[in-house]
Amino acid sequence: MDTPNSYFASEYAEARSGFLAAASKRGLAVETTLNSLKGAKGEELATDAVLLGAAEAPSLLIVTSATHGVEGFCGSGCQRAMLDDDDLRRRLDAGGVAVLLIHAVNPHGFSHLSRVNEDNVDLNRNFRAYPLGTESNPAYAEVHPLLLPREWPPTDANRAALHACMGKMGAGPFQAAVSSGQQTFKDGLFYCGSQATWSNRTTRALVRKYGAKRKRIAWIDIHTGLGPYGHGEKIFAGANDPAELARARACWGIDVMSYYDGQSASAEVQGSMVKSVYAECPDAEVTAMGLEYGTVPFEAVLHALRGDHWLALHPDAAADKRAAIKRAVRDAFYIENDDWKGRVLGQSRTAVLQAILSLSAK
Ligand SMILES: [Zn+2]
Repeated sequence: MDTPNSYFASEYAEARSGFLAAASKRGLAVETTLNSLKGAKGEELATDAVLLGAAEAPSLLIVTSATHGVEGFCGSGCQRAMLDDDDLRRRLDAGGVAVLLIHAVNPHGFSHLSRVNEDNVDLNRNFRAYPLGTESNPAYAEVHPLLLPREWPPTDANRAALHACMGKMGAGPFQAAVSSGQQTFKDGLFYCGSQATWSNRTTRALVRKYGAKRKRIAWIDIHTGLGPYGHGEKIFAGANDPAELARARACWGIDVMSYYDGQSASAEVQGSMVKSVYAECPDAEVTAMGLEYGTVPFEAVLHALRGDHWLALHPDAAADKRAAIKRAVRDAFYIENDDWKGRVLGQSRTAVLQAILSLSAK
């Protein structure tokens, strides 16, 4: 294995080329799905997938990165480290396990330093049945005008109003109102979209192609931006089913947090990507989690997201303001410190090894 820094890129194009080079070095075929848009520097945007291990293995571990665009710096680093890990790879054939790495679920957000995709959609709210019914998060309407003020940076009056709103609602309900997903405000935060997005269709097709015939599937979807610095919170990502939660905890430990019982740093969300596995691979036994690495405090993350959405509404903003906002988004979701990267890779490797052993044990 190489040093931690060598697996982490400074921009999407570098992450992609590093992933493709690592796959090529291993002689692995890459399945590339091109996005029709271009990146921040005019580069090609794509979701790239590789399968490690035997095509007909009864069990499959899926590892996904950049579901939330800019969070892909972290997940891409983990995936590149996996491609370079001889010990993990040796365990696959013996255990009857294959691994599907899906690199950059949301390449547009990764390249353009946004959490959302090209349609302002939060992909982890987009995996729903369309057309949608009534708004499931009416509380968002109250916070929306406060989140997207006319001026950026926000005025003192806006800061005070937002603070007062948070105090009135309480921290948990406020976070849920902001982040659980909403379908009413197309320019808003945590917007779920009005139809299945390109990334949704691409991911479903890959999961179906590589997963539908498996007996058992584990899925680790790598995120950043919630929880304590450098800690990977294991957020249960399966159905609201005690047996499934017990299986996830048997695999990854008692610290698999479930938002169904209020333990997780995340609010309960609707339309998360991982749950697509039930429709695409209906015969498989599923064990799934999000691995959510903490970066900076929630308030700083929210401030960065608000700035990015404000920028989308003000495309004529001055270049220095644009650069500052994008820098803040990157800094909220990716920490360029050696200690953070080391923690990320250590916990990722443990989670992957646990999943492989768990899938092998049957
Ligand atoms: Zn995320």
